[in-house]
Amino acid sequence: MSNPIRLVIFGRQGAGKGTQCARLVERFGVAHISTGDMLRGAVAEGTELGLKAKAVMDAGDLVGDDIMVGIVRERLAQDDAQTAGFVLDGFPRTTAQAEALTLILGDDSLHAVVDLDVPIEEVTVRMKARGRDDDTDEGIARRLELYEQETRPVLDWFASRDLLVTVDGFDEEAVVSERLFAAIDDRL
Ligand code: AMP
Repeated sequence: MSNPIRLVIFGRQGAGKGTQCARLVERFGVAHISTGDMLRGAVAEGTELGLKAKAVMDAGDLVGDDIMVGIVRERLAQDDAQTAGFVLDGFPRTTAQAEALTLILGDDSLHAVVDLDVPIEEVTVRMKARGRDDDTDEGIARRLELYEQETRPVLDWFASRDLLVTVDGFDEEAVVSERLFAAIDDRL
């Protein structure tokens, strides 16, 4: 059995992260761990966590670090993540979460943290084309601004630990996947 692969992926909304995560799952057999999906699942099920998280998510704020770290710790302990490895999507969102993740992983450090880079102008065009209710000009601008504010320090944190790889995500899906695979293979 091959060793587990430990990845984190970052990317603006509209950068194609969902599609590329599916391809990473196919290529590397990793578990896709999206904290946003887990929280939405908890909201849909009406669990205690879901009830707490809903108001925070609706306001566009971040769920508390303690809660998020607890969820991710439990998820990473499950068999699939332990055996095949994982790609974390949506976590860590703060440097405190990044530090906690490092402690959880201990000696099993991350192989790579990938930033799927697509220019703001392009993701704006893609989101407008998608035409979701919250994809107004203001809504799009606000979410992109928040992404910069929230995420830049976390990317810097990983860059200073030599873990960050920026992959040009502005191309056809399959081309971007090949770039991603090559960048990750390089780190394994
Ligand atoms: P996402 O689908 O990753 O954009 O996540 C949707 C929402 O879930 C975010 O706007 C946050 O409110 C919450 N959330 C997801 N992941 C995290 C995290 N790592 N830390 C705090 N809040 C999170």
